[in-house]
Amino acid sequence: MTSWDATVDLVVVGSGGGGLTAALAAVDAGAKVLVVEKQGVVGGSTAMSGGVVWIPNNPLMRAAGVPDSYEDAMAHFDAVVGDVGPASSEQRRHTFLTAGLEMLTFLQRRGVRFAYCRGYSDYYSDAKGGIDEGRAVEPKPFNGNRLGEWGRKLQPGLAKSLGMAVMTNEARSLSHYNRSLRAFAITTRVVMRTAAARAARRDLLTNGAALIAQLLGAALERGAEVWVDSPLEDLIADGGRVVGVRISHDGSTKQIEARRGVLLSAGGFAHNPAMRGEYGGDQPNNAKWSMANPGDTGEAMQAAMQLGAKTDFMDEAWWIPSPRTGRFGQSTLDQARQRPRAIYVDAAGRRFVNESNSYMEVGKAMYERNKTSRAVPCWLIFDDRYRKRYAHVRSHPGWFPKEMLESGKLKRAATLEALAAECNIDPAGLADTIETFNRHAAEGRDPEYGRGESAYNKALGDPSRKVKNPCIEPLDQAPYYAVEVLPGDIGTCGGLLTNEHAQVLDQDDKPIPGLYATGNTTATVMGRHYLGPGASIANSMVFGYVAARHATGDEAGA
Ligand SMILES: Cc1cc2nc3c(=O)[nH]c(=O)nc-3n(C[C@H](O)[C@H](O)[C@H](O)COP(=O)(O)OP(=O)(O)OC[C@H]3O[C@@H](n4cnc5c(N)ncnc54)[C@H](O)[C@@H]3O)c2cc1C
Repeated sequence: MTSWDATVDLVVVGSGGGGLTAALAAVDAGAKVLVVEKQGVVGGSTAMSGGVVWIPNNPLMRAAGVPDSYEDAMAHFDAVVGDVGPASSEQRRHTFLTAGLEMLTFLQRRGVRFAYCRGYSDYYSDAKGGIDEGRAVEPKPFNGNRLGEWGRKLQPGLAKSLGMAVMTNEARSLSHYNRSLRAFAITTRVVMRTAAARAARRDLLTNGAALIAQLLGAALERGAEVWVDSPLEDLIADGGRVVGVRISHDGSTKQIEARRGVLLSAGGFAHNPAMRGEYGGDQPNNAKWSMANPGDTGEAMQAAMQLGAKTDFMDEAWWIPSPRTGRFGQSTLDQARQRPRAIYVDAAGRRFVNESNSYMEVGKAMYERNKTSRAVPCWLIFDDRYRKRYAHVRSHPGWFPKEMLESGKLKRAATLEALAAECNIDPAGLADTIETFNRHAAEGRDPEYGRGESAYNKALGDPSRKVKNPCIEPLDQAPYYAVEVLPGDIGTCGGLLTNEHAQVLDQDDKPIPGLYATGNTTATVMGRHYLGPGASIANSMVFGYVAARHATGDEAGA
């Protein structure tokens, strides 16, 4: 007989978007819930993120007059994700679409406030069922002071590092403040919102931090318990059924009984070098390149694997090409690939991808090209007009932090040939690439990769009416610049195989009784694609909600 230190209905491991959504749904259904979080802060990568959630056919887009349907969303899954096996089975897609809607409505009724991200296009907007205006929502700004003591226990968010209360759908306008009146007006709004919050001493949260703060507040208010600094050590099973967890808490080991189940919503293994080495295949890859939260180390997934859980997509991650710009971090030149006067090339000096496509798509293209020509790292090349024209998160038009050049991370040369020599790029290849690219770019075209044609490409490009194509212009003004680009990631997205109820499956595809999983702990319903802004948080929150409903005896999205 196991001796228990406490008994609850549902133990939730991990306090990210999936975990807290599940906790809220379960307490709402009358269950006793304990969330155990390994770190001293709540929210995981979700709190650090843009907090955008991709929910097709949602009521906020309907209210904004943007039509969508279940059928179109299903067609979009078929067209982009294709047949990738059970993680994205038809039943799981059906659940994602139907329970997603239900979850959003449920959260709104419990006071979690969202705004529609109008214009934040689907990443494959030109594929069947894609929507130009987008299917994403994000949390409205939230006053963190309302959380009291818990406000100090939030994983710091994206906007904190920028010092601005900027919503995610506004962020692209901030760095284009000098390129269109609309972008300038949005920037002014953000500056005023930030100043007003400071004057009123409000800790105004946006993005993922606002999402986590709202979910946490609602879950605590309804009686969920949340323990920080309490890592899962192991799952406790009895006769094949998961009946509880062993955790470390307050300096000792505790055994918690979970009468209705255990939900693993503990993220992936982005920061576990051994697991990445084991499962990454021949893709050169480094846990240090990941932007995921430091708790993303995979022990919960390993505990389930010990019990015989099946996995899929273990070599996959949410890739994000990351220019190595030194201590100014990954954000200084992140946007460059989506703007005019900048391209990516491999060591042969050749382009290999539509640079304006989604980060996941470009990251995958880097790995694919690397099989035949070195593209990990690849190089971002841009000209001096780019430097003079564009702002970045931490630089203004015409000004780059001196350290970027002094550290040698940003290369500069008077000619393309000299730049190629500095970067060990084939000079003839680079010259030929730029000559061809420039010829077409002068007409606003990219016959090779179609850059700037899709609504998504346009949405992230230069909003100025003065450019022929928001994503391309010739690179023709010396000096020229180059920065190495690595395939970073915002988390891994392979893991435990789960069914349409979020139950973890064993090697015979049978549910392991009492064990649920969601988010980056699982093989995602998105397969090997990122369908739109918010695709990963949506996967986590929706299946967290589904798990809670199933464990408490209800079926979501039926
Ligand atoms: C800068 C940035 C921006 C992003 N923007 C977006 C966006 O706008 N939209 C989007 O969809 N995605 C975005 N992503 C990706 C997204 O944040 C993650 O994929 C997603 O939040 C993962 O959610 P999760 O619930 O699976 O895990 P997480 O939110 O990471 O939560 C997992 C939690 O489990 C905890 N944990 C781990 N192991 C244990 C253990 N043994 N015991 C107890 N607790 C444990 C972790 O500490 C963590 O707090 C972004 C990521 C980053 C880094």
